[in-house]
Amino acid sequence: MTAYYLTTPIYYANDVPHIGHAYTTIAADALARFHRVRGDDVFLLTGTDEHGINIERIAAELGLTPTQQVDAVTAAFSALWAELDIEYDRFVRTTEPTHRRAVVALWQRLQASGDLYRGVYEGAYCPRCEAYYQPDELVGRDCPVHGLPCDNVAEENWFFRLSRYQDALERLVRETDFVQPTARRNEILGVIRQGLRDFSASRRLVRWGVPVPGAPDEVIYVWIDALANYLTGIGYPDDPKTFERFWPAKLHLVGKEIIRFHCLYWPALLLSAGLPLPQQVFAHGWLTKDGNKISKTTGNTVDPRALAAEFGADAVRYYLLRAIPFGQDGDFTRRAFVARYNADLANDFGNLVQRATTLAARHAHVPVAQGKPGAPEIALREAADQLSDRVTAAFESFALHEAASVVGHFVGEVNRYIDKTAPWTLARQGSFDRLGVVLDHTLEAARLAAWYYVPILPRAATDAHCRLAGARPLPGGGTFDPTRRHVVNVGPPLFPRLAQQVGDVTLAK
Ligand SMILES: [Zn+2]
Repeated sequence: MTAYYLTTPIYYANDVPHIGHAYTTIAADALARFHRVRGDDVFLLTGTDEHGINIERIAAELGLTPTQQVDAVTAAFSALWAELDIEYDRFVRTTEPTHRRAVVALWQRLQASGDLYRGVYEGAYCPRCEAYYQPDELVGRDCPVHGLPCDNVAEENWFFRLSRYQDALERLVRETDFVQPTARRNEILGVIRQGLRDFSASRRLVRWGVPVPGAPDEVIYVWIDALANYLTGIGYPDDPKTFERFWPAKLHLVGKEIIRFHCLYWPALLLSAGLPLPQQVFAHGWLTKDGNKISKTTGNTVDPRALAAEFGADAVRYYLLRAIPFGQDGDFTRRAFVARYNADLANDFGNLVQRATTLAARHAHVPVAQGKPGAPEIALREAADQLSDRVTAAFESFALHEAASVVGHFVGEVNRYIDKTAPWTLARQGSFDRLGVVLDHTLEAARLAAWYYVPILPRAATDAHCRLAGARPLPGGGTFDPTRRHVVNVGPPLFPRLAQQVGDVTLAK
């Protein structure tokens, strides 16, 4: 079994989850499910980043302790993941004692490599990013991410010798596919060419964090703390057996705003610590709503929980994975959401499952596979046989929208197969041999579509598979075999059609 360890970023516990968090995590879950069904030894890690000056400040504003603040936010994240059918293997919290041990162990390795030294930092600091910025990185006086003024600070603290890894990082990014997609790789190469500067690796301003070993009045820089979660999650340093089973990670899935930390800081820290590098960092794009930036300040937001409550987790997963080319920016509108739901899920997939199960139940007396496959069956089999390669290629290149579209295209072919072979006419004519062949091919093709939809629509596709085949989808079920014996159950529509006006209603916040 191939180990497949993949991660979402750990989300900052300053606020409840928004649609962007849902997007990353749904994508990671779809990839994890694809690899599980392939029989890989999968480990999906997610979690929350609970340290830093911002948490302290927000907790104080709310009259909470930092612990109460992060407990509340973490509970909101796990509740959302349950609702969206996210099947993670571990939810790591950076306030866990085991994570603190991982951060300290990593720190000690950096120290042993001679990559930590005392220095004085003076300059612009964005407390929201928890990051210092060079003058040329600022937009006017403002943080390039938040567009808000930075603080001017000066303090003596520990620095990490990032500059020492300039050449190694350049080779890594230029000569391998470590950073994906290409646009992000070029962006990182640009940053490397400007020359990498050492960064300050501890903070005196901050109380809420992991203390620097031997210097209890300083905490370890929150990004070192946060990145170390990828080690903690699989047992570093307490459980070396699990750690060796899964490290190095196959994939860190991130939003494009944090690539600098994942594509430069993280590999440099690992090189310094003498640990193997992850295989790949893939950065997806940003979501907009109705063509505008999603922002709590302007009220232009999408609440993933409300959306899932209204339309179901599968519909939310489907829209995000299918409508947005993975890696690029994409837009959410209710109108497009409802239109896609109706076209692809209600009219195509839901309808196929309904037709196939209803036909099979109505003609349950028809003997199985008495007739010979004809031209429509041969064409259907060809389409079915190509499905595996196409879906696999799409998932392996992180083209999640393509994976969804390939299965959707096959669903369309099966619906057209039913139209063309007209089983209702065969029944009326008493052509039962031929009807048996058509029913077997219809059921098996619909089952296959359900099987391939599982990573994207886990709930509906599993339900559909049970209805069509009398069994849950299992690894190895991805081949087309119309001689399978199916136990069919007819159920209510999987995706009841929505009135298009539903798309015009503004979602209550
Ligand atoms: Zn900022």
